[in-house]
Amino acid sequence: MSTPPARPMFDKIALIGIGLIGGSIALAARRGGLARRIVAATRGEDVAATANRLKLVDHCGTDLAAACEDADLVIMCTPVGACGEVARTIAPQLKSGCIVSDVGSVKQAVIAAIGPHLPPGVHYVPTHPVAGTENSGPEAGFAELFDGRWTILTPLPGGDPAAVDRIEAFWTALGSQVARLDAAHHDRILAITSHLPHLIAYTIVGTADDLSGHLDAEVLRFAAGGFRDFTRVAASDPTMWRDIFLNNKEAVLEVLQRFQEDLFYLQRAIRWDEGDKLFDLFARSRQIRRALIYLNQA
Ligand code: NAP
Repeated sequence: MSTPPARPMFDKIALIGIGLIGGSIALAARRGGLARRIVAATRGEDVAATANRLKLVDHCGTDLAAACEDADLVIMCTPVGACGEVARTIAPQLKSGCIVSDVGSVKQAVIAAIGPHLPPGVHYVPTHPVAGTENSGPEAGFAELFDGRWTILTPLPGGDPAAVDRIEAFWTALGSQVARLDAAHHDRILAITSHLPHLIAYTIVGTADDLSGHLDAEVLRFAAGGFRDFTRVAASDPTMWRDIFLNNKEAVLEVLQRFQEDLFYLQRAIRWDEGDKLFDLFARSRQIRRALIYLNQA
């Protein structure tokens, strides 16, 4: 856990969307004393009421633009597909010099959706905290979510370097390690490390359900670690994941094509009793898992 800075980094932070990620940012920012005031706004009255009851922020309302008034940092924490409309709604209230950021799991499409709405004098720094759980909504947030995890910044070419440095310092103070990547590169990497695994999990759970009619007691009773792990991943928020696949189409379809070829290779190896091919791949995978644990990301 990082030590609180001597004085807050921002006077007022506004979070648009207060689910797992927005709620966790609020709690981690408060833990670090990173802002004098943290407010939020979300679409649903019930969601705002829950955020207020849990005291995630100083105040959560449903007027997105009003929340951004006088904010020196605004972070959009909504599903990827909502970011463009949110940017259009809040734009008139953004003060000059304000830093606007987002946490979307896809970067190129989100940058294209948000960028055109932002007025001159506002600095946009896109980010993606590579940390999460299968839970969503304000109750899912917790202060430790980003501790020791990576947050990727995808600064815009020609963007304000001082704003990028401030966002980097902010995420470091939230507990993250920070890396900077080009947005297109980010989308390709995440397609293989995050988006494809989720697609596979959704497929396996769907296939098992189709095979057994419903996930009846026997499937669940005999579910070993593998299937259980897939059901956990496949419990992730449907709106968020629909938006991710529709907004990272090109990169996901490219890795999916490659994955299908590799799957056919395994299918053939099983059919023709080519145990050495199976063994070699499984041994390689075990090494990758060990390397991941060594890097503290598993
Ligand atoms: P979440 O828990 O479902 O929270 C989303 C929040 O956005 C809720 O407050 C929701 O409340 C609000 N919202 C939804 N549509 C909206 C709209 N049209 N206008 C205004 N508010 C809206 O989602 P999350 O997991 O925090 O994810 C938020 C973002 O973080 C997504 O872009 C996702 O790609 C990214 N991300 C997620 C993870 C993860 O593992 N979950 C990790 C890294 C990044 P209402 O229902 O009141 O609208």
